[in-house]
Amino acid sequence: MPADKPRLLILGGGPAGVILAQRCCSSFVVTLVDPKEYFEITWATPRGLMDPRVAAAAAINYWDIPDLGRVIQARVTQLTSQSALLSSGDTISFDFAAVCSGSSTSELFKSAAATSRGQRLAEMKELQGEIRSAKSVLVVGGGPSGVEMAAEIVDAFAGKAVTLVHGGKRLLAELPPRAGAAAQRWLEAHHVKVMLGRRVESKPPPDDPSLGATSATGTTATGTHSGSAHTAVGGAVAAAVPDERSWSGAGSYAHSHAAAASHPDGGHHTHHAHNPLLDSAGAAAAGLPSVVRLSDGSSLAADVVLWCTGSRPAAAFMAGGELAGCLDERGAVKVLPSLQVEGHPHMFALGDVNNVPETKLGFLAAKQAELAAASLQALARAKAAGGPAPKLQRWKPNGGTLAVMMVTLGRDDGVMRAGGLVFSGCVPALIKSRGLFVQKYRKLLKVNAPGPAPGAAGAAGASGLGRGAVGVAAVAGAPVGAVQAAAEVAQAVAAGCDGGSGSR
Ligand SMILES: Cc1cc2nc3c(=O)[nH]c(=O)nc-3n(C[C@H](O)[C@H](O)[C@H](O)COP(=O)(O)OP(=O)(O)OC[C@H]3O[C@@H](n4cnc5c(N)ncnc54)[C@H](O)[C@@H]3O)c2cc1C
Repeated sequence: MPADKPRLLILGGGPAGVILAQRCCSSFVVTLVDPKEYFEITWATPRGLMDPRVAAAAAINYWDIPDLGRVIQARVTQLTSQSALLSSGDTISFDFAAVCSGSSTSELFKSAAATSRGQRLAEMKELQGEIRSAKSVLVVGGGPSGVEMAAEIVDAFAGKAVTLVHGGKRLLAELPPRAGAAAQRWLEAHHVKVMLGRRVESKPPPDDPSLGATSATGTTATGTHSGSAHTAVGGAVAAAVPDERSWSGAGSYAHSHAAAASHPDGGHHTHHAHNPLLDSAGAAAAGLPSVVRLSDGSSLAADVVLWCTGSRPAAAFMAGGELAGCLDERGAVKVLPSLQVEGHPHMFALGDVNNVPETKLGFLAAKQAELAAASLQALARAKAAGGPAPKLQRWKPNGGTLAVMMVTLGRDDGVMRAGGLVFSGCVPALIKSRGLFVQKYRKLLKVNAPGPAPGAAGAAGASGLGRGAVGVAAVAGAPVGAVQAAAEVAQAVAAGCDGGSGSR
């Protein structure tokens, strides 16, 4: 690579970072830094936690993705306007930089501990085993990730006692009310107990390391689990988490009782000392169901608790230094409409980490990367020519399209917002629920290695309806033409995941 090319440092290899790297690798000396050595298709993780084949297809080593430039496995610990300090102790200087560090969320969906693909697949498989053997599962959070998680469990393990607790008055608060109602109907029809309007006051370990032991004792004393976590979950009063406003959960993870002990119901559980998705402090040792404290003073027990609440921009490396003023009160990077970091025209912030007022979605992160790639090239050309700063494209929230969002309800159903319209049934199922865009994304990234043998969702794509196909069930007064229009928008979104759109 010629030395006279400008140096572009990309912080984070999620959808924004990898697309930007690929689009810029021919005109910049690109360095991509990420603590992991693999890219993960986050939106496939709820199903990947149920189906190892889906997990395997959704986790891709960076060395199998061409044209990323130099990839360094490290965490950026401090960023200035000129250079980045890495966890390895190295400092990398740059001419241009793009902050693509996304958001931190539940360990379920974005593992901080698993830095290799093998570790990630192992921890997911282990949790799947726990869910399979659990009699009861508690899902905390009724936003998209909690709803998807609960739906995947009952889709994969019919008959499992699943309870979903949510602090808000309705599910899927980001979507129109009828979307939440449709999701609730689906979940309840699949025997998920949905509990709204209450808070979980206790936090899972390690935030509250005393919880497991205390709860196990307390639960025994009050008889809430009484030898059957199923009964306990079904009969307990609900919990409440803050309304989930984005796709996942901060500080959340799964915890389960995980001691090598016999379950009161006779189940056997293995010790999982090193799996961050599974460790819990006290219940593990007791071999009892995990227990959460509820806002009304009662408690709720389950064999496995899956926290699916909240998410936070991941830009702590900008706090406390020269760039601290570039963060808003949520810790998101403040950007101009061009997606340049405020006050630093040679720096961009893309995807979940920036403060663009829109639902944070992977396909928007990728589209922002397309726009930024064109802008970086224009800036580099102008700089090389010694000319004035070029006029850059402006990002329109939601990519300038209808705000589209799809939430899967297992493999054969889903709910979807497209602008003011809500669909449930076959439209979201055909577009997202079957294939989760996994093969489309592998193709978009030009992944070198062949995908693992496709699971039921691995390569299915939009190929028709299967069991439980339901058709367009809820369009809330929309005429057929509007239904078709929205479906086309959604198809366009899906096509966008296939590289069919963008600014290049
Ligand atoms: C359950 C779930 C379902 C979802 N469903 C959908 C969906 O259907 N459609 C959709 O479009 N979106 C969906 N999303 C949202 C989507 O996953 C995110 O919007 C998308 O991943 C954001 O991409 P990003 O590149 O901005 O950040 P991320 O995907 O968060 O990637 C950030 C990268 O930066 C790295 N990083 C973090 N900190 C540092 C650091 N200090 N130094 C270096 N690297 C760092 C991380 O390791 C990571 O690889 C879903 C999310 C979840 C959790």
